[in-house]
Amino acid sequence: MSWIQVYSASNSLEAHSLKGMLESMGMDVLLKGDSLASATGELPADVVAVTLWVDTLREEKARSALHQYEAQAESVWFCPSCQEENGGSFEMCWQCSTPRDEF
Ligand SMILES: [Zn+2]
Repeated sequence: MSWIQVYSASNSLEAHSLKGMLESMGMDVLLKGDSLASATGELPADVVAVTLWVDTLREEKARSALHQYEAQAESVWFCPSCQEENGGSFEMCWQCSTPRDEF
C-alpha cells in the first residue's frame, strides 16, 4: 500500500477528528507530525501541523469527504438561545449546549 497526503490539519485535535471521520468511511488513515511532545503537553497542540495520509486508491474519496468537511466548517451558525456564533462542525452550541436548529 502506498500513502498520499490529503490534508494538513491546523492542530492535533482537528487531525484526530478527521481521522475518525475517514476511518468511519472505511479508510485507513495515517497521521504524521502528531509529535509525542504535543501529546504530553510540552508544546501547545496547535504548534505542530498534523498531516493526514491515506491509501492512494482512496485519495479521491478522502479528498471529497475533506472538502465537504471544510465547506461545512466554514458555514457558521448562531445559537437561537444565546446568539453565540458556532462553527459549522458543532452540533450544539459550545457556550450553552443548545442543539443546533435544522436549517
Ligand atoms: Zn448558545
